[in-house]
Amino acid sequence: MGQQGSASGSLLLDLDGFEIVSAQLAGGEWQLAVQTTATVVGCTGCGVRAEVHGRRTARVRDLPIGGRPVVLVWRKRLWRCRELACGVRTWTERVAAVRPRAVLTERAGVEAARRVGKDAHAVAAVARDLGVGWATIMRAVRDHGSPLVDDPARLQGVVTLGLDETSFLKATRVAPTRWVTGLVDLEGGRLLDVVADRTKAAVDRWLGARPRGWLAQVATVALDPWRGYASALAASLGHATVVVDHFHAIRLANTVVDQVRRRTQQATLGHRGHTHDPLYRIRKLLLIATEQLTQRGRARLRAGLAAGDPTGEVAAAWQGKELLRAVYRAVGRPAARAALDRFYRWSDGVGVPELSRLARTVRAWEAEILAWHATGGCSNGPTEAINLLIKKVKRVGHGFRNFANYRLRLLLHCGVRWQTHQTARLRGRSPRLVA
Ligand SMILES: [Zn+2]
Repeated sequence: MGQQGSASGSLLLDLDGFEIVSAQLAGGEWQLAVQTTATVVGCTGCGVRAEVHGRRTARVRDLPIGGRPVVLVWRKRLWRCRELACGVRTWTERVAAVRPRAVLTERAGVEAARRVGKDAHAVAAVARDLGVGWATIMRAVRDHGSPLVDDPARLQGVVTLGLDETSFLKATRVAPTRWVTGLVDLEGGRLLDVVADRTKAAVDRWLGARPRGWLAQVATVALDPWRGYASALAASLGHATVVVDHFHAIRLANTVVDQVRRRTQQATLGHRGHTHDPLYRIRKLLLIATEQLTQRGRARLRAGLAAGDPTGEVAAAWQGKELLRAVYRAVGRPAARAALDRFYRWSDGVGVPELSRLARTVRAWEAEILAWHATGGCSNGPTEAINLLIKKVKRVGHGFRNFANYRLRLLLHCGVRWQTHQTARLRGRSPRLVA
């Protein structure tokens, strides 16, 4: 079911320097026979007008048209120089839009990288749309995405550095959970990098690779104090103020509430939480900031504790969490100091082991917690936002096996600035061709 190529067809293709010779639908795909519009070219050696010596067919995938994959069947011209004295004999035409031996046109590769990187679409979905395999798309993401990620300018201007860990692969029956550490620009709200592992050495290596001027610019580092990063900072970022931000402190307090709830469930019911267990039913309410609870939520929380927390330990842990939150909500250092003392008195008084452990950690990091106020309460928003994006990329990637791919995709999604999508340029003046 062929049809003659036309000027309007070539307009639809809108690929610089190409025209459609014929188009047909085969197996749900557009097969477009194309050729370049260059009919007059000079020899690269002597400039004499070359003659067509024959054609060679190259098949390359382009952007979909009307939701169907597109195969360009390019009848490449072979050129020959007629000048006997010239050393150049024959050559195959070359264009910027299609690299030699490429599976995808340049623009299809760029679009694939943009969809997977910027929009966090699944590689398999993009592969399906273009009618190619997974590996071809991943290669395009690497080819077109790596230069964006490797651009040194990407890391410029970091004043507040955040460190956070996230799981890269969840534990399976045969392998433990694997972790990565994310480095975040807390003011710019972008992911700077992710390094494998959550150790001092991993962070050390990354910081060690930064120029001195870059390190000197970092004034504040916000971190999760319950990790080994802190000592890694001493060498390279000794001048910076280390703070324990709101996000990390509250995350740990929430973990304590969860631990006490589970222990209480186990002790009172003899099993882990089930859907109808009173504490299990309020597990999420327990972690919500008290001022954000609705009246109904408050009532459910009270009822759940009354029914499932006979020793009052869950309620005590919850109160401890709220008192630690108050430290961060306090305005100014003296108020924060006073709030901290209330937290200590409570935690030391109620004798809940998990909460006592939290209080010990807080004491060890007291200066860094209070420093949070001195830095004007550097935002924890970006860390939270980036954590959500990391989760999204992970979900789309179905659990990455390959760390390099995972890093590339995370950085393309929340670590680089993408140019606004390139729209069709004015076209048609001179065929841009390199013969
Ligand atoms: Zn020549």
